[in-house]
Amino acid sequence: MLGTRRPLFWVIISVAATLLPLSIMSQFPSLEIPPPYWIVSVLIPASISYFVSRKLLQQSEILAKLNRDLVEAYAMLARVAETDHLTQLLNRGGFIRHVELSRTSSTDGLIVLDVDHFKSINDRFGHETGDHALQSVAFALGKALRPTDIVGRLGGEEFGIYLPGATPQLTSKIAERVRRQVEETVVPGFSREQIALTASIGVTRVEPQLNLGDCLRIADLAMYRAKKNGRNRISIAA
Ligand code: GH3
Ligand code: MG
Ligand code: MG
Repeated sequence: MLGTRRPLFWVIISVAATLLPLSIMSQFPSLEIPPPYWIVSVLIPASISYFVSRKLLQQSEILAKLNRDLVEAYAMLARVAETDHLTQLLNRGGFIRHVELSRTSSTDGLIVLDVDHFKSINDRFGHETGDHALQSVAFALGKALRPTDIVGRLGGEEFGIYLPGATPQLTSKIAERVRRQVEETVVPGFSREQIALTASIGVTRVEPQLNLGDCLRIADLAMYRAKKNGRNRISIAA
C-alpha cells in the first residue's frame, strides 16, 4: 500500500509542478503550447519521479529493516553478555544489574549459596559431572523460588538470590526451602552411584539505603559462618 502510494504522491507533485508554469504560460496568446508539449511535460516528470521515489522508498525500507535487525542483535548480545553459559542463569554482572533495577523502597532479601565440598565432586567424578551438578543446582533453585526472584551464578559454585519485597522472615523461609531443594537433588555419577549435594547459605536483609556490594559481602560472611558451623545449613547475618 505504502509502496504504491508514495511514488504516486511524488508523480502528482512533479506533474503538477511542471503543468502549473506551462498553463500560466499558455494564457499568453503569443505563447501557444502545442499538444505534444503537454503530453511530454506530463510523461517525463511522471516517469522520472515514479522511478526515483520508488528506489528511495525501497532503500528506506531496507534501512528500516537493517535498523530493526541491529536493535534485535544488540538486545541478544546484551542478553548473552549477562548470561552464564553453563546454567543459563544470570552471571555476576547480570545479577547485579537486574537486582539494582528491581530494588524496592522497602526491605528486600538477599541469599548467597555455596555448594559444599564441590571440589571433591570434580575430583571424584570429573569436571563434566561437576558441570552437571551446577546445572542441577540451578534447576533446584528455580523450583524453590518465586517468579519475581532474581537468581544468578556469582562465580564457581556460588549463587546469589535476590528476593524483592521479602521480609527477613520470608527470606529465611525461602532460604530453607532452597537448602532442602538442593539437598533433595541427586546428580548421576559413575555407573549407579548418585552424588548427593548440599549447600551452605548466608542470608541478609537489604535496606533501601544500603549498598548492594556491602550486602553481598555481609551475606557472604554469613554463608562462611554456615560452612564453619557444619555446612548444609543457613546462617542469618546479624
Ligand atoms: P566448601 O564446602 O568449603 O565450599 O568447599 P568446595 O570444595 O566447594 O570449595 P573450593 O573453593 O575448595 O572449591 C570450589 C571448586 O569449584 C573448585 C573449582 O574447580 C570448582 N569449579 C569452579 N567453577 C567450576 C565450573 O564451572 N565447573 C566445574 N565443574 N567446577 C567448577
Ligand atoms: Mg563450595
Ligand atoms: Mg565457593
